[in-house]
Amino acid sequence: MHDFTVHHPQSLQETLILLDRFGDAAQLIAGGTALMNFMKQSLLLPEHIINLQRVQGLQHIQSTKDEVRIGAMVKHREIEKSNLIQNEVPILASTYRRVATIRIRNMATIGGGLAHADPAQDPPSTLVALNARIRIASISGERTISIMDLFQNYYENSLMPGEMITEVIIPSMHSDTKSTYLKFLPRTADDYATVSVSLIATLNENIVRDVRIGLGAVAPTPIRATIAEETLKGHAISDELIQQASNSVAQQVDPLDDFRGSADYKRDMAIVFTKRALQQVLQGPS
Ligand SMILES: Cc1cc2nc3c(=O)[nH]c(=O)nc-3n(C[C@H](O)[C@H](O)[C@H](O)COP(=O)(O)OP(=O)(O)OC[C@H]3O[C@@H](n4cnc5c(N)ncnc54)[C@H](O)[C@@H]3O)c2cc1C
Repeated sequence: MHDFTVHHPQSLQETLILLDRFGDAAQLIAGGTALMNFMKQSLLLPEHIINLQRVQGLQHIQSTKDEVRIGAMVKHREIEKSNLIQNEVPILASTYRRVATIRIRNMATIGGGLAHADPAQDPPSTLVALNARIRIASISGERTISIMDLFQNYYENSLMPGEMITEVIIPSMHSDTKSTYLKFLPRTADDYATVSVSLIATLNENIVRDVRIGLGAVAPTPIRATIAEETLKGHAISDELIQQASNSVAQQVDPLDDFRGSADYKRDMAIVFTKRALQQVLQGPS
């Protein structure tokens, strides 16, 4: 591997000064699970690595009446095991539980995962369905964006030079909201998804009051199945409605042919897994 200098800032301000000073020549390192792979393959050759491990203020999981806030350096395993997350945003705990292996989940962080912007990762489709917001800091100040505006393309995020993710903000779920995360894994139990579906719905008797559907691994970024959502909202649940909504996702997905399946196969599986998720949440036990 090429030579590089590792920096160990203790505070956010120190980190942002280093990011500003070294610009494109620097890469942050959080869990290192993606960065080290990219460096080994010479896809990234940073001269400076800024290690976030000792930075204060990025490790919290907190909730208020309206939202849950997760610091960028919180590890996947901590989210999966957090009582607060299990109680307040159960779909997030179950989504992080589906990531790779415990070994990876003990290293990888929420901020590093989102910055990596691989659409086949598990958390993005769920965070998209949750309407999460991303807090971003740079030496010039802070801004907060919708998670939909973070993902630009395969492995491409919208962070500007000198910016980093500091926090993920998730609106609280109502107690009568039901949810599920389904990951289609035809190869091995620790693989990335071939297709994933995150579903959050609120019912009023037999009527769909609100529904949000995130899809992963079927487009250059995670997407919302907005046609299916509009098909369902305000209507009484029936087999026909669920089939119609599930079929509509084919119009919105844009998968790649790869070793996990052809684009046509993934399009079909997106329909199948959306239907399963809808049946589970809308027609399952209340
Ligand atoms: C073998 C293997 C299997 C995996 N399987 C899955 C899977 O099935 N599902 C899944 O969801 N994930 C999976 N992952 C994990 C995932 O692909 C990423 O590796 C992981 O989420 C990256 O998190 P990290 O903290 O290690 O990031 P790092 O590797 O430290 O960083 C990744 C990138 O983000 C940047 N970065 C880090 N922190 C920040 C920040 N706060 N702000 C801005 N930029 C930042 C870095 O500079 C780097 O460019 C797998 C990983 C491996 C190695």
